[in-house]
Amino acid sequence: MRILVCNDDGVYSPGIAALADVALEFGSVRIVAPDVEQSSMGHAVTHSRPLSYRPTTIGDLTAFRVNGTPADCVALGAHLGEKVDVVLSGCNMGLNLGNSIWHSGTLAAAKQAALLGLRGIALSAPAGKVDPDFDALKPWIRKVLETLFQTEPLPLINVNFPRQPRGLLWTRASIRHYDGRIVPTTHPLGRELYWFTVRPLEDAEEGSDRWAVEQGWISMTPLRLDVTDDAGLARLRVRTPLDEPVAALVSLPTSTEEEARSVQEDEAPVSLDASAEPGPRGRSDRA
Ligand code: MN
Repeated sequence: MRILVCNDDGVYSPGIAALADVALEFGSVRIVAPDVEQSSMGHAVTHSRPLSYRPTTIGDLTAFRVNGTPADCVALGAHLGEKVDVVLSGCNMGLNLGNSIWHSGTLAAAKQAALLGLRGIALSAPAGKVDPDFDALKPWIRKVLETLFQTEPLPLINVNFPRQPRGLLWTRASIRHYDGRIVPTTHPLGRELYWFTVRPLEDAEEGSDRWAVEQGWISMTPLRLDVTDDAGLARLRVRTPLDEPVAALVSLPTSTEEEARSVQEDEAPVSLDASAEPGPRGRSDRA
């Protein structure tokens, strides 16, 4: 098995060293991670400047540090060298439970793997006043990887460890309401500054990731990329019909090559491939 290891805490975090160490028991390991911390960057990708990487050393392993986001690192790491089977992201210094899935860089790296058609597994450990004891967690990281590699290979799994695990549970994501609390503070020169923090307003639901970790269980949540509200969509189509009947009449079953290409051009305005054929829009621009 070829394993790509990434994180959002930066390539020199003890969490990525512990994860890479355990991953080595399961296959070959390539470490590609941000050169500086990128926590809470979510799924940001760098599009306005090029990326580069530099070799460095993590224990006995060669690693590559990238001047980019976690998602950049996975895209670049998957592109370089042999094809990767699975991307492991972490082990993050800090839990990524419930709503964190929307801003976590750790989870975004695993998500980027899933977007590329690879498997992505995000792993996070608690880090409050005390840093996680990764040596104590290693047997549990091993148990998690053994379990996930032996079962159905789902594209995206979010794993969270409690401080002292007593076992593993399958969970669902805890989506609760937060008050998005703003904490004011003062700059040494007197300016007003603010910390953005979150405070849950409701208790964790039984069976959720937060509930499991609160009870001392390792939480493993399968996630999907399609966040469409299917039930809501069905209700809207009935309650407020738009142009669906007309669209069904005038649309071809599949778009033509030309229509598809014009949408692709709108998504990616600059082609990196200089030899590529100009699309219909490019031709008309020159005419
Ligand atoms: Mn982090």
